[in-house]
Amino acid sequence: NLKNSIIQLQDGIKFNEHDLVEAGRAIGAIRAGHITLCNAAGIGMEDIQTAYMSGAAGTYMDALKAHNIGMIPYDVGQISQIGNTSLIVAREILLSEDRLWELQKIAEEIVGTHVMFAMDDAFKEAYILELSYWGEGMPFKVLKKYLKKKKLPTIDVVKSVPAVEKRVVKDIPVLGEEGLHVLDKVGTYLTMIIEGCEACHKCVKVCPNDALTMEDEDNRVMIRTDLCDGAHCQKCIHACPHDLFKWENLDIMMQESSMEQ
Ligand code: SF4
Ligand code: SF4
Repeated sequence: NLKNSIIQLQDGIKFNEHDLVEAGRAIGAIRAGHITLCNAAGIGMEDIQTAYMSGAAGTYMDALKAHNIGMIPYDVGQISQIGNTSLIVAREILLSEDRLWELQKIAEEIVGTHVMFAMDDAFKEAYILELSYWGEGMPFKVLKKYLKKKKLPTIDVVKSVPAVEKRVVKDIPVLGEEGLHVLDKVGTYLTMIIEGCEACHKCVKVCPNDALTMEDEDNRVMIRTDLCDGAHCQKCIHACPHDLFKWENLDIMMQESSMEQ
């Protein structure tokens, strides 16, 4: 199917040299990400035993092909394709408030330890090398040599075939007879009365999403959950000069919602 350097795939889909360069950039970014995370954790790529794939990749992608081209750490013994984890977690939260607080705790820990690729020197070094490999013809053994020279976790070619565990067949599970409803207004608030609040409104002003309002008569805070970034943000908690804004005191309040089908 190779004609004028174009690979003709099914259904009129074509793959040309430009696509190859773009794919290389994307694969290089993913592998540079793996190198960066291993570097931050102080481990080698060969220490990773299981790779988890989520989202569309965790449902429909051919895991072994992805492994062969470098999208998955080269030496893993197992790849688990776990499907649409956002939906799975959303379902768990809906069914258990305890699970919500458990996840909130995990999120607080992640906020303190997560790696920002855009600010990370290891990512910059690894990605520049990956770009040279995928776009400028740098040989693989030179890429390995430079990673070692820069004291970054090194990579290698795939030497064995990992076991693949596929936990789902569809990314959206069976929806039942009623199908999928889209809520145009979620209608849920988090609310609490803050004892000792001096109504300075610092917590309200600092919210980047205008998710938070305050009723001055009784110092009641209302947070729109569809606008709030939650654990990812926490600006309102840190803005209070008297440390009165306690997330764990919030209660869930349901408002009337409208629904579209
Ligand atoms: S956590 Fe952030 S987005 Fe949510 S209410 Fe507080 S400041 Fe606003
Ligand atoms: S920042 Fe603290 S004191 Fe100020 S309004 Fe918010 S909760 Fe009250």
